[in-house]
Amino acid sequence: MAVPHNQVLRPGNFSELFSFWGRFPDAVPFAGGTALIRFQDRMLPELPGNILSLEKIEDLRRITRTERYLEIGTMVRLGEIIALGKTVPDAFTGALRGIGGPQVRNLATIGGNLYISGDAAAPMAALDARYELRSASGSRWISAFRFSMLSPGEKQKNRELLTRIRIPLEPWNYTVCRKFVPGGSGGEGGVLIILVQNQKDILTRIQVVFIPSPVSGGESGSGLFMDKDSERFLEGKALPLDRRDAIHYGEQWNSYLRGLGRPDPLLRAKIVNVIETGLLELSN
Ligand SMILES: Cc1cc2nc3c(=O)[nH]c(=O)nc-3n(C[C@H](O)[C@H](O)[C@H](O)COP(=O)(O)OP(=O)(O)OC[C@H]3O[C@@H](n4cnc5c(N)ncnc54)[C@H](O)[C@@H]3O)c2cc1C
Repeated sequence: MAVPHNQVLRPGNFSELFSFWGRFPDAVPFAGGTALIRFQDRMLPELPGNILSLEKIEDLRRITRTERYLEIGTMVRLGEIIALGKTVPDAFTGALRGIGGPQVRNLATIGGNLYISGDAAAPMAALDARYELRSASGSRWISAFRFSMLSPGEKQKNRELLTRIRIPLEPWNYTVCRKFVPGGSGGEGGVLIILVQNQKDILTRIQVVFIPSPVSGGESGSGLFMDKDSERFLEGKALPLDRRDAIHYGEQWNSYLRGLGRPDPLLRAKIVNVIETGLLELSN
């Protein structure tokens, strides 16, 4: 029998969803739809042939909080997360506030944003968040960092759905969240997160993450930048930091990004400047 095209499938639970997905393997999950239509300039946007709407799955809308974690279903809208207020780590709220305008944030979901490795993926990696992925055969957890490094093909391979994100609620003593907007001449943009933890006057942990902005193909094409070697250099140092260490850390990031050949030199200089300025605030 010929398979009908142009279906909008509306499963009410996971078992229905995976049964539909088995019958229509090319169906594309549809959350808020804002990334799917972004960068289209026609009156009527072009959508995938078969759509798997996630709208009716209540499990994807749950938010729970324990002493150690905040868990958010992937169909929760960006605006709803911001409205949770102080429960949400500052780095996460900061990145969400920079995504589109209020209308976009009222439609766009966290799952859609993380799937395309959008701006929110930077705080997720910095905060050591994990994502639950569900398929017809079961579920598994993956670190935010590893998920952001997957290529679009690897993400699609097993027909897995992002269902939940789990964010550890550790106290961070110092947070910087900075969005770089691409220039008019087609320069690059992205989000930089700096998180610092200290115990008394010792810097115990630093996480610095940069993610380039999603490009016109929809995905952030070049993964996520996080330099573990630089972090080790500062961990264990006394606070306030020696100014030379703060500057040296910025230089290490400069070499790291130069070695990767991304982002462009102008954006690289801006990133290094924010890192140095941020750390100089912790110096004497
Ligand atoms: C005007 C405008 C400005 C924007 N500005 C920004 C910005 O500054 N930064 C930024 O990061 N983004 C931006 N976006 C892109 C987009 O709005 C956000 O990334 C948004 O969070 C995507 O969520 P969504 O629910 O709309 O995803 P959708 O468009 O529904 O889906 C996006 C992709 O994710 C897949 N998907 C969705 N949910 C799941 C799931 N649970 N499991 C598996 N796959 C899934 C879909 O199949 C699709 O491939 C902008 C968009 C617009 C229209």
